[in-house]
Amino acid sequence: MPHEDCIFCKIIQGEIPSAKVYEDDHVYAFLDISQVTKGHTLVIPKTHTENIYETPAEVAKELFARVPKIANAIKDAYNPVGINLLNNNGKQAYQSVFHLHIHLIPRYGQEDGFSLNWDAR
Ligand code: 5GP
Ligand code: ZN
Repeated sequence: MPHEDCIFCKIIQGEIPSAKVYEDDHVYAFLDISQVTKGHTLVIPKTHTENIYETPAEVAKELFARVPKIANAIKDAYNPVGINLLNNNGKQAYQSVFHLHIHLIPRYGQEDGFSLNWDAR
């Protein structure tokens, strides 16, 4: 069931346009509107779930099962030197859209403009 007022549910429904990277019965992957690096992609389950805590194991299983394939598609399309996977849960952990999503962030070397400083730990 789509969740009312969820922008990612609206993207899945096609009510908000997006640049599709991959889609099947379980997941939708699309380019992040604000690209931290070239090819920055979000992978989301088609089932609305707010964060990792709320996610049924079966939904997580289907979601993560697709990630290697999507990562390889990004690798083939953009030829990065590496890729970061990131999942934010909770406002304090930088979650701003409350529909579970995995960021796939292709990396192009130290000068690619993205700094993952882990809150400068
Ligand atoms: P978060 O901060 O919750 O981990 O990441 C949410 C991401 O969703 C952000 O990187 C933001 O740029 C992206 N985003 C927010 N609204 C839209 C949208 O309407 N379309 C797309 N493609 N990405 C969005
Ligand atoms: Zn949703």
